[in-house]
Amino acid sequence: MNKVILLNKRPQGKPTLDDFKFAEEEIPTAAEGQVLLKTRYVSVDPYLRGRMTDAKSYVPPFQLNQPVQSGIVAEVLESKSASFNQGDFVSGLLEWKEFQVSDGKGLNKVDSTAADLSAYLGILGMTGLTAYLGLTEIGRPQAGETLVVSGAAGAVGSVVGQIGKILGCKVIGIAGSDDKIEVLKSKFGFDAGINYKTAKDMKQALADAAPQGVDIYFDNVGGEVSDAVLANINNLGRVPLCGAISSYNDTEVSVGPRVQPVMVKNSVLMQGFIVSNYSAKFPESIQQLTRWLQEGKLTYTETVVEGFDQIPQAFIDLFEGKNNGKMVVKV
Ligand code: NDP
Repeated sequence: MNKVILLNKRPQGKPTLDDFKFAEEEIPTAAEGQVLLKTRYVSVDPYLRGRMTDAKSYVPPFQLNQPVQSGIVAEVLESKSASFNQGDFVSGLLEWKEFQVSDGKGLNKVDSTAADLSAYLGILGMTGLTAYLGLTEIGRPQAGETLVVSGAAGAVGSVVGQIGKILGCKVIGIAGSDDKIEVLKSKFGFDAGINYKTAKDMKQALADAAPQGVDIYFDNVGGEVSDAVLANINNLGRVPLCGAISSYNDTEVSVGPRVQPVMVKNSVLMQGFIVSNYSAKFPESIQQLTRWLQEGKLTYTETVVEGFDQIPQAFIDLFEGKNNGKMVVKV
C-alpha cells in the first residue's frame, strides 16, 4: 500500500500533528505518457503554513482531506513517457505520498552524480534561488557594504550570508541559538552574529555589530527582529522582504513601530518578492550557484530527518528553530 499525508484541519496558531492525517491507498500504475515516482527526499518549508490557511495568496490553499504538496526529489520507477527513463531522478512540486504518478509537467531531471539529491531541494533548488535572486536583484550588494540577514542559520539565510561574503560585504547574521551563531561564523564566514533570543537590546546589539549602519537587510522573519534592524538602516538602504516567519502562526495582526518615517528619512527601498517572479533567471542562477559550490566558495548544512511518517513533525519543528540549514525528510 501507498502512504499518503492529508491536511486534516486548518492549523489555528502553531501547527500540530492533529492538523495532518495519514491514509493508505493502492500504489498507482503509470498510464501512457506518465511516470511512476518513488519519493526520496521531501522539503518542508515555512511557506507551506500559508497554504494551510484558507486565504487568498500567490498560491491556492491546500484543500482539506487532500494531500499536502511540497518540493520533492523522486526516482522514476517506471516510465511510459518519452521524456524520462527508469532510474532518472527528478524534482518538482509533488504530493506527500510514497509513490505517485505524474505526466512529467513541472518535473526537472536532476543529476545525482553532480550533487547530493537533497541539495536540489536546498542550495540548488528553491531556497538557493531565493537567496541568490532576492539578494542580487533587490539587495544589490556592493563590496564594502554591511548586510544583515535574519533567519541567518536557515536554508535561505545561510546562503544569503555566504553570497554576501563572496560579493565583498560585511555580513551579520541573526539566529536563535549560540550554536547557530557559532556555525554562521565558523562554517559560513559571517563576520558577526546576534542571538535574538538572548540579546537584551537588539537595536543596540545591531548598532554595536554594524557601527557603519546597515546597507542591506535581507528579512526572513519580520516582527521585532526586523524593527531592531530597520532602526539601524542607512541612507539608500535596501530591504528584500523574503519572509515573515515570526508572524505565520499569529492569530491576530501584530503591531510594531510604523516603518514609513525611517523609510522616507533614509530613502530606503523595501521590496517583497516571491522567488518565482524571477523564474526566467533560474537557469543562469543555478549555474552560478553550482559553480560557487564546485569552487568551494559556497557550502551548506542540512537537517535530514528520516522516515515518511516524520514529515509533519519536521514541518512543525521549523517554527521551533530545530533545523540548521535546509530541513528535509529522507524517505
Ligand atoms: P529556515 O530554514 O530559515 O527555517 C525556519 C527558521 O526560522 C527556523 O530554523 C528558526 O530559526 C526561524 N524562526 C522560526 N520562528 C521564528 C520566529 N518567531 N522569529 C524569528 N525566527 C524564527 O526556512 P527557509 O530558509 O526555508 O525560509 C526562510 C524564510 O524565507 C521564511 O520566512 C520563508 O517563508 C521565506 N521564503 C520565501 C521565499 C520567497 O519566494 N519569498 C521562498 C522561500 C522561503 P531560529 O533558530 O533562528 O529562530
